[in-house]
Amino acid sequence: MRIVRSIPELRVALKAVRDSGQSIGFVPTMGFLHEGHASLIRQSTARCDTTVVSVFINPTQFGPGEDLARYPRDLERDQNLCLRLGVGTLFMPEPAEIYPTGFATSIEVGPMGDALCGQFRPGHFRGVATIVTKLFNLVQPDLAFFGQKDLQQTSIIRRVVKDLNLPVDILVAPTVREADGLALSSRNAYLSPKARQLALGISRGLFAAERRFQEGERDAGILAAMTRQELRGMDAIQYCEVVDPLTMDILSGAVGRPAALCVAVVLDGTRLIDNVLLSPTGEAAQFISHLESREG
Ligand code: AMP
Repeated sequence: MRIVRSIPELRVALKAVRDSGQSIGFVPTMGFLHEGHASLIRQSTARCDTTVVSVFINPTQFGPGEDLARYPRDLERDQNLCLRLGVGTLFMPEPAEIYPTGFATSIEVGPMGDALCGQFRPGHFRGVATIVTKLFNLVQPDLAFFGQKDLQQTSIIRRVVKDLNLPVDILVAPTVREADGLALSSRNAYLSPKARQLALGISRGLFAAERRFQEGERDAGILAAMTRQELRGMDAIQYCEVVDPLTMDILSGAVGRPAALCVAVVLDGTRLIDNVLLSPTGEAAQFISHLESREG
């Protein structure tokens, strides 16, 4: 595995890979890797000749007062995991490499970036779309892998890829969870034992609504209310809504097409998000995992 910190080094290394005709899979991350990241890396190594992982805590997607300074890091553990998983190139740039003095251009993502998480994190998705596009330009992957846990992020990335004609296919992999249901997240490291216990209400509420949906309940308001019941112990419920997973539009009334039930809460100062897919015809998981977005 090559560990690369500079852009020129990355370009040289990947040009050689591309020239040899190998396909490139790419998994962008902010590090402190866990089994959720590992599942994306495994998908990539299974489908592509070589896999590039980036570990970069992107400052422009954090707002003032958010957790940029204390975001958990363990570069040595990340390196070891990538090595074990057969990653070909690990890209770990410093912020100044990515945002040199004078950096001024960014991607406006439109209304989808103002919905759900965007309401509480103004500018977050501009930062995400800009860094992901920059990384796509640097790595020039054939396939890029994202997690369903960050559903809004995946929808925005698909939109950017389509709108800007980026030559990459986006694959979305299911959320990896702890045995008790909690969605894996680097930010779970912030949770006290008591907060971690309370956080189980998120997946409990989502799974209860998912079960009720599978039993035939179609009313978006009833399904969201069932989930909210389990969120009562949280410090804040930022949102708990049934949405169209491609546009993030909030749905009301009967759910008649693939939808997602999405939650964001704050617990002990930590923001946690999670979601489940709801598909009237049972194909939601497939729908979300295999939708490809290259100009299509
Ligand atoms: P992050 O390091 O949090 O920016 O996440 C990097 C990638 O890993 C994103 O595509 C996330 O959606 C994905 N990811 C994070 N947590 C999980 C999880 N529990 N299961 C699957 N993918 C995840």
